Amino acid sequence: MAKKPRYCSFCGNKETPSNLLIDGIDASICEQCISRANDILQQIRGEIRQKENKEASSFHMDKKPKEIKAYLDQYVIGQEEAKKIMSVAVYNHYKRIDYCNKRSDDDVEIEKSNILLIGETGTGKTLLARTIANMIDVPFCIADATVFTQAGYVGEDVESILSRLLQAADYNVAKAERGIVFIDEIDKIARAADNPSITRDVSGEGVQQALLKLLEGSIVNVPPEGGRKHPEQKFIQINTQNILFIAGGAFDGIERKIANRLNTNVIGYKKKDNSIHLDHLLDHVIAQDIKAYGLIPELCGRFPVITHLNPLDQDNMKSILIQPKNALIKQYTKLLAMDNITLHFEENALDFIVQKAMSLKLGARGLRSIMEQVMTDAMYNLDLTRQQLNITAEYVQEKCKHIFV
Ligand code: ADP
Repeated sequence: MAKKPRYCSFCGNKETPSNLLIDGIDASICEQCISRANDILQQIRGEIRQKENKEASSFHMDKKPKEIKAYLDQYVIGQEEAKKIMSVAVYNHYKRIDYCNKRSDDDVEIEKSNILLIGETGTGKTLLARTIANMIDVPFCIADATVFTQAGYVGEDVESILSRLLQAADYNVAKAERGIVFIDEIDKIARAADNPSITRDVSGEGVQQALLKLLEGSIVNVPPEGGRKHPEQKFIQINTQNILFIAGGAFDGIERKIANRLNTNVIGYKKKDNSIHLDHLLDHVIAQDIKAYGLIPELCGRFPVITHLNPLDQDNMKSILIQPKNALIKQYTKLLAMDNITLHFEENALDFIVQKAMSLKLGARGLRSIMEQVMTDAMYNLDLTRQQLNITAEYVQEKCKHIFV
């Protein structure tokens, strides 16, 4: 019996030896339709890319450094120097992108200014980077340097940072290419001593080298879903040239490196002169100290802007609790206001929370955990017929008694 002719479900053409059919669940498609569909897909992708590029080139920096700083002031308490330096660096970075879009070949090349933030945990490094990204409306992602390993080892490849950025940009490549990446705990990938290791150093120098490639401004093949769990995924190419990298780290003990340098530097200060207060050593940090700490010189060179964040004192901590636009007290006040209840914290209750948070040594991060301790029970047991919730120092004390410090 002759074989029943088969037809393409898309164009209706009959299957022939030169135009075979591939069967799906309820339909078949012929080779010609496959090829046509592929052409259409390419065309759609091209159009999307064109649209993205157009959007990207229409982006320009319309905020001046003072405006950026004023915006940061609404969210970040203290850290005046860091806010100023970051405002200028970010302004220059996006102005540079504008310039590069219009530049002719013989114009001056302006180099990128990635930023390195040094400061204890919970002092606002991530907050600064995130707030700036929000302000200028560019995609933002956070990556923890400690989870990365050199390619080929167990752990995440550094390229997965860009997968996250791509996700934050809704897979709009052009948008991702002008985003901001915050690399946290960069100090944890410092090599152990200031001398090149002869053994393979999976988590330290190898990762620094891998990061260097991203920071240098190159075209990187990025797995859109990140990681190695999806080996079948197609890579997307991202140019990192205009991505702003902001790295942060506590650099515990770097003061010693700074003090050593200042003491031995022939044209520098002598410690004995007392010209530099020990508490202010971080004011003098330069790339050389970062190198002495264990970052490879090439990586140090990729962070031309270095600044530091100061430890938060009691006044700063109290302000953080009540002042910023999204301060914790404001957030809880809003939540309770939805139930028509006015939240009131007595002054000494606030002081007690601040003292307790200071003793946790987690920077402002400690405030959140204490506030949660205080407010969870208060909100759970809340009598909704009340009009005011008054938080006293005694109540805070009672709720914090098992936070043993
Ligand atoms: P880190 O320096 O470790 O990156 P973060 O920026 O993540 O610290 O800060 C942790 C939390 O503490 C933030 O969510 C923010 O609410 C608060 N915080 C820290 N420093 C400040 C600051 N200077 N001003 C306002 N809030 C701050």
